[in-house]
Amino acid sequence: MGAAAAAAAAAVGGRCRCCGRERCQADPCGVLCLLLTYLSVGYADYVVLEHVLLQPGFRASLWCPFHAVAFNFIVVMLLASHTRAVFADPGIVPLPDTAIDFSDLRSSSGSSHKSSRNNEDWTVCNRCETYRPPRAHHCRVCHRCVRRMDHHCPWINNCVGELNQKYFIQFLFYTGLASLYAMGLVLTTWLWPLDTVGAEGSAPGHPLQTAHRIILLVESVLFGLFVTVIFYDQVVSIITDETPIEQLRNRLRKEPHREVAHTRKPKIALLREVFGRGFMICWFFPCNCSSPSAGGPSYSYLPNYDV
Ligand SMILES: [Zn+2]
Ligand SMILES: [Zn+2]
Repeated sequence: MGAAAAAAAAAVGGRCRCCGRERCQADPCGVLCLLLTYLSVGYADYVVLEHVLLQPGFRASLWCPFHAVAFNFIVVMLLASHTRAVFADPGIVPLPDTAIDFSDLRSSSGSSHKSSRNNEDWTVCNRCETYRPPRAHHCRVCHRCVRRMDHHCPWINNCVGELNQKYFIQFLFYTGLASLYAMGLVLTTWLWPLDTVGAEGSAPGHPLQTAHRIILLVESVLFGLFVTVIFYDQVVSIITDETPIEQLRNRLRKEPHREVAHTRKPKIALLREVFGRGFMICWFFPCNCSSPSAGGPSYSYLPNYDV
């Protein structure tokens, strides 16, 4: 057994080398982004309820409970999908139970090597000391290889990979929807106020109320635009069957059609691989009513060698 293989023995069992947990999530940027997400969502809900819907004149209208329920439903779905994206396994490649000796594959430098036998698309990750299936990549933040890794997202403090991309896209969708809804409510009630007799301290045009509405408007525009761009990129990467990592790699290698084998699948089939093979209504719910990987490939830590 080589020295590197001996080092791998210390990493078996799927534990992070630095903290001993199944996945290392001690990234300060990720924790900060999580707090910022909860703070922003909480603030938006507070302003919509307290400074928009519960204002004199509007709170007596039937539109008040309607919008309150509808907006909070979106907020609940946003938080649920975000929670699933944060805590779900993105598709971490399991580490071997016993150390593997890669000394015969270490003839060249670099972080990974093509396996030299039958499984052309399997590679070896030098950092994880394991074989990894096609399209898996190593995340420098999580310190693990992730199947069909899209990117590491600090807003969910997790990788976006094969098993949690659905929840990540749902989070983007509901964040965009909540931003649009909040903008619509603020602008509508601001520009076309109902006939009100303003109570002291909460009358339309009160400086505090105006400040909250402006802050919510700015927040909604920024987050709305941000998630719309990422949502678009995610959908494009799915229907072209090429993750951003693969796009970059192919561009650097100047082999734009290297992944052509993936793109021959119909777009709906590619979408079903991510969102599940059940009813399309399930695509909107952060649940396991139809597992994206149901019927899909399952990987062990070893390629399918003939031994
Ligand atoms: Zn790795
Ligand atoms: Zn990661």
